[in-house]
Amino acid sequence: WLDEAAAPAFVPPKTGALKARLSANENPYGPSPKALKVINEAAQEGYLYPFQYASQLRKMIAEQEGVSEEQILLAPGSGSLLIAAAMHYTYAKPGGSIISADPTYEQLMRAAVQHGAKWEKVPLTAGGYDHNLAEMEKRISDNTSLVYVNNPNNPTGVTIDPVALRAFVDRVSAKKPVFVDEAYIHYTSDPAKFSVIENIKKGQNVLVARTFSKIYGMAGLRLGYLVGQPDTLMAISKWGGGPGGLTMTTIRAGLACYKDEEFIKYSLSKGLEAREYLYETLKNNGYTYLPSGTNFVLFPIRMKGDDFIGKMMEQGVSVRQWKFDGQYWCRVSLGTMPQMQAFADALKVVS
Ligand code: PLP
Repeated sequence: WLDEAAAPAFVPPKTGALKARLSANENPYGPSPKALKVINEAAQEGYLYPFQYASQLRKMIAEQEGVSEEQILLAPGSGSLLIAAAMHYTYAKPGGSIISADPTYEQLMRAAVQHGAKWEKVPLTAGGYDHNLAEMEKRISDNTSLVYVNNPNNPTGVTIDPVALRAFVDRVSAKKPVFVDEAYIHYTSDPAKFSVIENIKKGQNVLVARTFSKIYGMAGLRLGYLVGQPDTLMAISKWGGGPGGLTMTTIRAGLACYKDEEFIKYSLSKGLEAREYLYETLKNNGYTYLPSGTNFVLFPIRMKGDDFIGKMMEQGVSVRQWKFDGQYWCRVSLGTMPQMQAFADALKVVS
């Protein structure tokens, strides 16, 4: 979230209105109608501490994931859990290193580095821009404190082969803790197949982070959770997470939408419609792209990143840029269809 908030694309255009904010991987189809309905009611109960509701939500999530309540740690957004985990593993092994792909979502590693950890970046595979699991495994040493995997990966959108990932986690978690950030898992073709929560159920030293900011469209309400082994979650909760930081409105909104299959289907179908439209738009303008399992798409651009971002912003569209593998890239989040059309119009002018 720090990374997203630091995006220069948040600067409003100098002239004209912002037509489409496609820079922070938000989901304009949330919060769900059921969540919105309870928020007013929940606000009226705002004078009460929300502990009972928090434990209801924890129970609901545990049941759905097939784990015990002690295996769920709630927090205001998964980002705060990434930071709490960074603190836990950094102070448990001073001077230790965290292995991650590069590029990936940096929040956990950046927090760890600020507290003295080392960060070992393993470049994505050539051509496929996938996590290089073999190389990441090779880099594990006595000094490794944590292995961070983001599946599907931000900013590439690439999903790791589920068989390979589960086997990697089987082997690696026997040596070192593995943290799998599944913020975008609902946008893959089969979340249950791609998730490694199954590895947690086998008792392995694995953590999975999930968020309500994406498929549930609650980025501003702030809700996320960690799934892991009870003793690990207990240790991490000393640094952050737990019911204390959550508001009545957010918890009750979470309870109202977490198992709302109709809404999840709707939210996903709107996202997929926008993703297909975006693929077509890019093809029609002569661009390639990385096939995405998320609510954003990354594509190589033909000018410097800053120039591209600036020109798109002049057209009222905010997007993000990256540079890796000797190439500038644009990451565009999935918005409403009018927002995607605004992106298409802007791209035509800028290309
Ligand atoms: N993990 C990934 C991969 C993300 O992209 C983000 C935000 O965009 C987060 C975690 C943090 O999300 P939040 O704190 O809103 O749950």
